Amino acid sequence: MKLLFATHNQNKVVELKKLVPKYIDIFSLTDINCHKEIEETGKTLEENAKIKADFIKYKYGLDCFADDSGLEIEALNGAPGVYSARYAGEEKNNASNIQKVWSELEKKGNTNACFRSVFYAHLGSKTYTFEGRVDGNIIFNKKGKGGFGYDPIFIPVGYDKTFAELGDVIKNKISHRAKATQSLLDTLLRL
Ligand code: IMP
Repeated sequence: MKLLFATHNQNKVVELKKLVPKYIDIFSLTDINCHKEIEETGKTLEENAKIKADFIKYKYGLDCFADDSGLEIEALNGAPGVYSARYAGEEKNNASNIQKVWSELEKKGNTNACFRSVFYAHLGSKTYTFEGRVDGNIIFNKKGKGGFGYDPIFIPVGYDKTFAELGDVIKNKISHRAKATQSLLDTLLRL
């Protein structure tokens, strides 16, 4: 079975390949020579995932799925959310994004947060939305060298280490993307 992941992000493709059985061949926009940056103009993760998957389905006629994900902080009413990558500006700088989270959150007294990932898929004539979520807490110093984005300041519930300290093997078992991927897989296996 071949399935197009509508992304240019090779890190995500590599991660997804590790999460799905070998007989599902995940390929990416690079593999179909699509180099267009599909603009994420949606106001929600769901909208952005749909925009990307729809673009590919209607241009190339291929079954595919696209994703969007972000960090949602309870005391900030769900921010940075869909703006996670560019929270502190269009240069998409992880260190500045983390600084902004700290300055917005420092006086709130509530560090509850979650990562959420949404997949939107065109499979045959049907469309599907899959979601994964991992709850945790924000800390006010960076810990760990692994991962990316907000990983050094996010401790998932049930652990005493950040995503950046836990490493890929554990993160890939409990992460928002792992859970969304599992839902996608459950549906693929039923079709
Ligand atoms: P993307 O558009 O799905 O790549 O994610 C948007 C932004 O959300 C990323 O640039 C990160 O800032 C943040 N993000 C999403 N998933 C994670 C994660 O697993 N760890 C840390 N940050 C993440």
